[in-house]
Amino acid sequence: MKMGKQSKNTAQTVVVALGGNALEDSSSPTADNQKKVIEASMTHIAELISAGMKVVVTHGNGPQVGRIGLQNEAAKEITPPMPFDVCGAMSQGMLGYHIQQALKGELNRRSMAAEVSSLITQVVVNPHDEAFNNPTKPIGPFYTKSEAEALERSEGYVMKEDSGRGFRRVIASPKPLEIVELATIKALLDENITVIAVGGGGVPVVKKGTTLDGVEAVIDKDFASAKLAENIDAHTLVILTEVEKVALNFGKENQKWLNTLTLQEVEEYTAQGHFAKGSMLPKVEACAAFVQSKKGRKALITSLSKVNEALRGETGTHIVS
Ligand code: ADP
Ligand code: MG
Repeated sequence: MKMGKQSKNTAQTVVVALGGNALEDSSSPTADNQKKVIEASMTHIAELISAGMKVVVTHGNGPQVGRIGLQNEAAKEITPPMPFDVCGAMSQGMLGYHIQQALKGELNRRSMAAEVSSLITQVVVNPHDEAFNNPTKPIGPFYTKSEAEALERSEGYVMKEDSGRGFRRVIASPKPLEIVELATIKALLDENITVIAVGGGGVPVVKKGTTLDGVEAVIDKDFASAKLAENIDAHTLVILTEVEKVALNFGKENQKWLNTLTLQEVEEYTAQGHFAKGSMLPKVEACAAFVQSKKGRKALITSLSKVNEALRGETGTHIVS
């Protein structure tokens, strides 16, 4: 009994954030393909659990929630469309379902009797977050200028032109303040249950007296993952994406892959514009915030297939104080 307790407390807790490429086949996003891609992704995550780590899986949902929105939009004459917070919860269920199924299957295959559970997670945001005055995150389908203007009038949406491709609705991307289901996540981890949480950055909610209300916003999954890692006192935050390392001059002739990034370098290189907004910048910022939050905390950015090597310090970009 005593020893069980001890092993619970000494196991390293790792928050692993999965990016788009770990979750879908973007050229053909069928359910079968989603299942296949996630099954392949989970072999790497199972490896971490086999190595004795306590894992919390977090994930993005951009394309998936975009498609749920499209389905709602297309079928609105037949059945009432769901608002964006509800679509976010649907995406957590849809992805969480395949992730927990695939991870459990892979652990079973390794004869590990492990429990895996995904949790609909709400994250509190500040209704006065400055992001609400300047919505930046494009969601859903493209519209012509006149359709966009009509939606602005009828629905009160903010519509912006998106990289020459037409007009899209943009919504706010506020900072995560508080994870509502935190105590549940901790209880599951204490029981050695692998948890899938804050999918898509969590469903953004605001406090209204004693209740919570969903808002039309998207929390960056990298920031939500860092917040969760801080709140559960995780040892390591791992952000998995398409690239094995972060680069300076990314995509240019003088591109240079980085093995480490100090907090000071994060500031300098960010000021110099090395990290793209909305893609690499939030990852680097989330890692820096986690490392800064307490001595000894580790954070790294790498690709899914390199996660095990990167955790052994053999590759990836490690953000260090
Ligand atoms: P995810 O879906 O995993 O959250 P994104 O596609 O939003 O990830 O962001 C990761 C991508 O950011 C990388 O695959 C790469 O194309 C791009 N990127 C932008 N700046 C950099 C940089 N400085 N170093 C490496 N990759 C970068
Ligand atoms: Mg992506």
